[in-house]
Amino acid sequence: MTESEKLFEDAKKYIPGGVNSPVRSFSNVEMNPVYVKKARGSKIYTEDGKELSDFVMSWGAIILGHSHEKVVEELRKQIEEGISFGLNHRKEVEFAKMISKSFGDGFSFRFVNSGTEAVMSIVRVARGFSKKKFVMRFSGCFHGHSDQFLTSSGSGLATLQIPTSDGVPEEFISCTITLPFNAPDDILEDTFKKYDIACCVLEVLPANMGVIPPKQKFISKIYELCKKHKSLLIYDEIVTGFRVGWGGITKKGEIHIRKFDGSGEKEEKIKVPEPDLITLGKVIGGGTPIGAFGGKKDIMSVVAPSGKVYQSGTFAGNPLSIRAGLATLCAISSREDFYKTLRQKTEQLFYVLKEGFFRKGIPVSIVMETGVISVFFSEKVPENFEDAKKSDTEMFKKFFKKLLENKVLIPPSPFEAWFLSVSHEEEDIERVEKAIESL
Ligand code: PMP
Repeated sequence: MTESEKLFEDAKKYIPGGVNSPVRSFSNVEMNPVYVKKARGSKIYTEDGKELSDFVMSWGAIILGHSHEKVVEELRKQIEEGISFGLNHRKEVEFAKMISKSFGDGFSFRFVNSGTEAVMSIVRVARGFSKKKFVMRFSGCFHGHSDQFLTSSGSGLATLQIPTSDGVPEEFISCTITLPFNAPDDILEDTFKKYDIACCVLEVLPANMGVIPPKQKFISKIYELCKKHKSLLIYDEIVTGFRVGWGGITKKGEIHIRKFDGSGEKEEKIKVPEPDLITLGKVIGGGTPIGAFGGKKDIMSVVAPSGKVYQSGTFAGNPLSIRAGLATLCAISSREDFYKTLRQKTEQLFYVLKEGFFRKGIPVSIVMETGVISVFFSEKVPENFEDAKKSDTEMFKKFFKKLLENKVLIPPSPFEAWFLSVSHEEEDIERVEKAIESL
């Protein structure tokens, strides 16, 4: 028995399913999970003495590389100065200023401890501001595990909602309308007419069903309908915020996709209008637990104590997360070529995947933005979650195993994106190349 196997056996006795988050069980790839001993740069080191090139990167939270010296140094200082105050402190003001200013002068943000909390809070803000009830969301976009988001779309139309978890009463999701991603105009229009939509929430570039590009028409239509019906538009940028560029997609105002499938390679730019509200997480905590919700100041003014929308937290804006986040964003902004370098590395991986599978005669579709990439074993880039689920999951399992044998760890699910950091090097990408060759 390996050390990881022993640890998992023990874990199963004391932690439900042996894990603190389901995907970590590796059940999707029918393997035993990996136990991490330490991580540095682009590598993780397992309890079994293996060094792996990491493309999980704490599910996108790490962008500088594991245990980056600047982040470690700032965290050390903060430990000396106090771990938690539950009170106001200077660094949270600095951090809020830095993040808000990234979006211009009209935005403000509040910090929480997870993405789940951030989305839960922003929806409350939207409902409190608009005085409306219904939330529109899209199947395959993930917004954390609060009850109202554990839904999927029924038959591809705005039908009755289906809870995707036991323990979620139908009444709790009765105000959530779930539509297919990239839904056609008539479905969007009918839904806005039928329901009094408080807000429309989406991962404007979804990364939780694999990376799936939005159609220009879909993004423009949602924006137009939100304006027309006075519904608030919310971008969940917990993955993309400060990953695809400074300030994320909202700040860039576009999504810059490179994709490949049976019909060839294509570069595409999708124009993205400014939302009313956004959520952030992952990268902005530099690897520590964080979430942030914010947006236009007049809307955010409804949050207590200035307004009547309640939200609070013992650890909200905690000094460790804020300090690690500040160190991360400062390290990013100190390098003019940061996102260019990250994109080049992502493109390098894109071409290794594209050419490697071509040589093998294995049909794949690949989609990337800066720092994030997906491989589907399908002839065509999927348009939505239903489409993505048709990809060859057996082939994915085989590929996952080959990658591990070649010292590469990717997310153990065909529907999770791979993440890169600026610390990824040639060696990490060469290992992927070797794994494809050995398929
Ligand atoms: N929104 C998106 C887009 C996410 O990817 C995630 C987490 N993967 C969440 C929300 C929830 O964040 P957390 O896991 O920090 O609660």
